[in-house]
Amino acid sequence: MDKELVLVIDFGGQYNQLVARRVRENNVYCEIYSYRTPIDQIKAMNPKGIILTGGPASCYEEGAASCDKELFEMGVPVLGLCYGAQLMSLVLGGNVEKAPVREYGHTALKVDTSSPIFEGVSENTTCWMSHNDYISKIAPGFKAIATTEACPYAAIANDDEKLYGFQYHPEVLHTPEGTKMLGNFLYNVCECAGDWKMDSFVQEQIGLIREKVGNGKVLCALSGGVDSSVAAVLLSKAVGKQLTCVFVDHGLLRKDEGDQVEAVFGPDGPYDLNFIRVNAAERYYVKLAGISEPERKRKIIGEEFIRVFEEEAKKIGRVDFLVQGTIYPDVVESGLGGESAVIKSHHNVGGLPEHVDFKEIIEPLRNLFKDEVRKVGLELGIPDQLVFRQPFPGPGLGIRIIGDVSAEKVKMVQDSDAIYREEIEAAANEYAYEAAEAAGVKIDREKPDHALLRSYWPSWMPDQYFAALTNMRSVGVMGDERTYDFAVALRAVKTVDFMTAESAQIPYDILMKVMNRIINEVRGVNRVLYDLTSKPPGTVELE
Ligand code: GLN
Repeated sequence: MDKELVLVIDFGGQYNQLVARRVRENNVYCEIYSYRTPIDQIKAMNPKGIILTGGPASCYEEGAASCDKELFEMGVPVLGLCYGAQLMSLVLGGNVEKAPVREYGHTALKVDTSSPIFEGVSENTTCWMSHNDYISKIAPGFKAIATTEACPYAAIANDDEKLYGFQYHPEVLHTPEGTKMLGNFLYNVCECAGDWKMDSFVQEQIGLIREKVGNGKVLCALSGGVDSSVAAVLLSKAVGKQLTCVFVDHGLLRKDEGDQVEAVFGPDGPYDLNFIRVNAAERYYVKLAGISEPERKRKIIGEEFIRVFEEEAKKIGRVDFLVQGTIYPDVVESGLGGESAVIKSHHNVGGLPEHVDFKEIIEPLRNLFKDEVRKVGLELGIPDQLVFRQPFPGPGLGIRIIGDVSAEKVKMVQDSDAIYREEIEAAANEYAYEAAEAAGVKIDREKPDHALLRSYWPSWMPDQYFAALTNMRSVGVMGDERTYDFAVALRAVKTVDFMTAESAQIPYDILMKVMNRIINEVRGVNRVLYDLTSKPPGTVELE
C-alpha cells in the first residue's frame, strides 16, 4: 500500500502520542517509532516527513538518546520538537547547554511569519514550554524564526535542507496555534496530500481483510465495548458469515451489559453475523479467587479470554483468524511502540499468552486512536449511542475492584456503578433539555436526538465515570448498629484523549444524591469517596 507516512521518532517525551494525533488530525497518517529504530529501516519506510519528539534527557550527556546524522541528510523534511530540536542542533554542529533561564508553561512567542512553517500564524502568539536546556548556538545553515524573552532560538529553520526545530511543544493545546504550525510542516514543507480519512480507511481495511482471510473462518472477540464492536462490524462487512463473534460474559461486566450486547449483536439485532454468548462468570471467579496483584489479575483475565475462545473455536471447527479490537494507545502503552515505559499490560496486547490456537490475529484498529475508531464506527453505520459509549477496559470490573475479586464484590460495584451512571446521566440530560430550551432548540423528551442532547450537556459532564470498589473496610453506623463494610470510590474524569485527564467537577448535590442512594441501596457498602486524582499521576482506572 502506497500511502503517505510521517514518522514520529520517540525520545521518551510525555506528549508523544499527542504529536501523532495532531498529525492525523491534519489528515496525514503517521506512526510512532523508537529512536533506536535503525536508519535503514527508517529509509525503507520512505516517509514524507519525520518529527523528532521531546524527551527527558539532556542530549549532550553521555549515553543520552540520540539519532544518526544521516537522518538529516536523506532529503526528507525533519521537524524537531524540544529535545528533538536540541538534538538536531547538536548533531549538526550547533551547541546545547543548560539554559540560564528555564521556561515552563505558557510563554509569549514572537514569530517570523514569512517562514513557510508559520504561514497564517499570528506574529505574537503563545507557546507551551517545558525545558531545562536550550540551544545556545545554532548549527551552520540555520536561522532563528521565533524567539521568546528567554530563548533566542525558540524556533529554528534551515529552509534549504527542510530542517526545522521548535523549542516549545506545538502538540499540546496550550500552544493555541500549534496544530496550524504542524499542519504547515506537513503541507508546506513535506508537501503531503492529506489523504488519511476514515472513509478511505474503511474501504481499504475491508479490501485488506478480504485478501488476508480468503475463505477462512474468523472468530471475533466481542466485549461490547466501542473498540471490539467496531472491529466486529468491520469484519462482518468484509467477510459476512465467515465471521463468528464470541462474546464472553466473564461476570465482570457492568450491570445488565451482557443482555445489552446480546440485544445489539445477537439474532434479533441489525447485523448479519454468527453470535455466541458464553457465560463464563463462575470460571473467572474461581481463577481470580484470592488474587490481588493487579498485573496478575490482568494476565489471568486475558489468558482465560483466550482459553475460552480456543474452546469455542474448536466447537466451530477450523478457525484461522482471531480478531481483536486493539487500538493504538494499547499498543504504545504496552511498551510495544515508541519509548514509553510499560504502565499496564493491556489484556489483548501484552497479556496475550504464547500458546494461541489460531493461525493469525487480526487487529484492524491497531493503528487508530479512540476518536478515529469512533469515526470508523459512525462511518460503518453503528448506532450513535454505542459508538459514544464510555470506554470500558477489557478486564472489566476485575480492575475496578481493588484487591481480590468475588461474586459479592462484583455485585456491589455493579449496583453502585449503575446508580452513579443513572444519576449523572439524568442530571446531565435534564440540564441539556433546559439549556436547549433556553436557546430556543426543541428536543423531544420521548425520542431525543442523542447527539443533539449531548451537545447541550453541562461542562462538568465527565468523559468517563464509574464506581470502583476499594479494598478498604471501615466502621460505620446504620440503624443504630455498627457496620464494618466496604468503601466505594467514584471516579469521573474530563479528558480529550485519555492520555491526560482531570477529575470532573460534578456538582456537589448530585454527588450527595449518588452517595445516598449507594449507601441505602447497595448492601455491603457503608462509605462513598470521590477520587480527585488527575492523570498523571493517577491513571483513569484504579488498577
Ligand atoms: N530534557 C530536555 C530539556 O530539559 C528536553 C525537554 C523536552 O523535550 N520537553 O530541555
